[in-house]
Amino acid sequence: TTIDQAPPLTDIASPPTPQVRLPQGRLLLNGTLVEPLEAGATIPVIDPATGRQIATIPACSAADVDRAVAAAHRCFESREWQSMRPIDRGRLLERLALLVEEHADELAALESLDSGKLLAVTRAIDLQFTIDGLRYFAGWASKIAGQSIALNPLVPEDATYRAYTERRPVGVVAGITPWNFPIGQAIQKLAPAIAFGCTVVLKPSEETSLTTLRLGELIIEAGFPAGAVNIVTGYGQEAGAALVDHPLVRKIAFTGSTATGQRIMAAAAQTMKRVTLELGGKSPTIILADADLERAIPGAAMAIFANSGQICTAGSRLLVEAPLYDQVLEGVAQIARDLKLGSAFDAATQVGPLISKRQRDRVGGIVTAGLAEGAIAMAGGKVVDREGWFYPPTVLAGVARQMTPMREEIFGPVLCAARVDEGDDLVKLANDTPFGLGASIWTRNLDRAHLLADRIDAGTVWLNTHNVLDLAMPFGGNKLSGIGREFGYEAMNAFTEPKAICLRLDHAAGRI
Ligand code: NAD
Repeated sequence: TTIDQAPPLTDIASPPTPQVRLPQGRLLLNGTLVEPLEAGATIPVIDPATGRQIATIPACSAADVDRAVAAAHRCFESREWQSMRPIDRGRLLERLALLVEEHADELAALESLDSGKLLAVTRAIDLQFTIDGLRYFAGWASKIAGQSIALNPLVPEDATYRAYTERRPVGVVAGITPWNFPIGQAIQKLAPAIAFGCTVVLKPSEETSLTTLRLGELIIEAGFPAGAVNIVTGYGQEAGAALVDHPLVRKIAFTGSTATGQRIMAAAAQTMKRVTLELGGKSPTIILADADLERAIPGAAMAIFANSGQICTAGSRLLVEAPLYDQVLEGVAQIARDLKLGSAFDAATQVGPLISKRQRDRVGGIVTAGLAEGAIAMAGGKVVDREGWFYPPTVLAGVARQMTPMREEIFGPVLCAARVDEGDDLVKLANDTPFGLGASIWTRNLDRAHLLADRIDAGTVWLNTHNVLDLAMPFGGNKLSGIGREFGYEAMNAFTEPKAICLRLDHAAGRI
């Protein structure tokens, strides 16, 4: 069945977009808000729900990036930063958490306006994650610790050798972030960098820089030392690439597409920068024959349709064991047909727009290719003909492994379903992708759940849930989904270098 009818749309003009205070659009350099060197170079900011321009942001050049990195480097080397007690770095993050909390409604509205993300979700999830993230890493600042190590001297002599490791901050960190989770991603880079003693330059996505710019104003208010945090906006090929090439940047903490991640890793080799790369995904939602469908069907739907599918760990491949296939597919397709598209500011909206026309057209193109290859649209499947960059929740059935929508990361509300027949190798099907970010398994059988989880090649496997991110749980991907882990205790490894200190205790000299 191809469902031609688009899901109902709420009236985008009603309720009207609230008056949102726009940030000044100035960069945070060395503790003050400044204009970019080249005054006229700007990037338009588009409201994705209407396609209309609402503001502009600076398009920074390599010279602006150089100023930001120089400020971060000066701060890192300064006595003030080097001698600051770790617990006091934590207090900076706590102060910023309080300010973000105080301004949470305003920041949520700004984020929703800029990205099209539902206001209720932005407030309850994105902003809470941001505030929690600052507090979580504030606590880490005072818990940095190395190890003491027993050595094995080759030549026995009248001496004892001891060694210990310290975790030293890597230095200036560049945090480069995507558009699907703007303020949360900014904090995901900033908070551990500061907690572990680094200084940082943030470069938000050119599509969604407004909340990071506003964050810059709050960082000044929180009293961070000048240069500890700097913010530049601009295009990836210009401002982003200048950060990646800069010799004084010691680490790139990047979240974004696999193609950009590969470019960054290659460029970083020149200066041997450390990289953590959180990249794309094609995560399977796996429904086993004994699953509780009351939970699994809405779970599978939200795994892909939340945030209009613009989540790196979105459950974009639905693999269902044969006995439940038809029932699950019909259930998920029904949810997709009923979801209400509309403005982020309308409480009735369940699915917002995609970030840009380019992204909307890309999603549409992949679906059209899949339909031409033989996939069947059980819901959606056609671009919505109205203002803004909307694409309807789409369920494609009978998607074979070689079809375009099954291979490509779509990053939109498009679910590709395939039946798992008796005798099929479930592990092979689940891992049949160059990505390895997430997966979910829905079953009542704990043995199958855990044994299958062991075999899935992914950074995170969820059992009877999907897309749960927690700052205490390491997060990252395998294969083309990236390298390194953020969050939890892994963050310490990502933002510090171990330094081994080795000493010789001479028994004669130290006779006791
Ligand atoms: P993108 O790669 O186009 O851009 C991400 C950032 O990189 C932007 O700030 C951009 O300006 C910058 N950039 C682009 N080219 C650059 C270059 N040559 N050098 C340095 N910086 C450059 O990604 P996007 O389209 O903004 O985001 C969507 C992608 O992000 C999806 O693939 C998604 O899966 C991924 N993502 C991954 C995670 C994760 O944690 N694994 C989370 C969210 C999003």
